[in-house]
Amino acid sequence: MAKRVLVVEDNDLNRKLFCDVLTASGFAVEPCADGELALKAARAFDPDLVIMDIQLPNISGMELIGQLKRDVTLARIPVLAVTAYAGKGDEDRIRDVGAEGYLSKPVSIGPFMRVVKGLLDSNPAQLVVTG
Ligand code: MN
Repeated sequence: MAKRVLVVEDNDLNRKLFCDVLTASGFAVEPCADGELALKAARAFDPDLVIMDIQLPNISGMELIGQLKRDVTLARIPVLAVTAYAGKGDEDRIRDVGAEGYLSKPVSIGPFMRVVKGLLDSNPAQLVVTG
């Protein structure tokens, strides 16, 4: 049974890249271009992992991660945050809202797939991910 990954990313090229790479690795992928639909998509798709862009129009990926982690039915799903702005303290803030993984853009395929597989295979509570 293929693991399921929800990709929340408003940028068309990045979303397609993430989805293509994940599909090529055998994952079942659901793209979501609109952050405001992300929680609805998570409930409908029941993913094993959520890839979450932080810079989204209308709503922050940080806010969405917080909402996911406060939802009793969604909180168990690991979240990999991807962000274009990797300032000092950003990773801490993103992890503080509940993201289990973190990558700064531009995202390279090798590290991306390693983190994805690590989040799917490991106990998130014990996982330490370095970009
Ligand atoms: Mn974005």
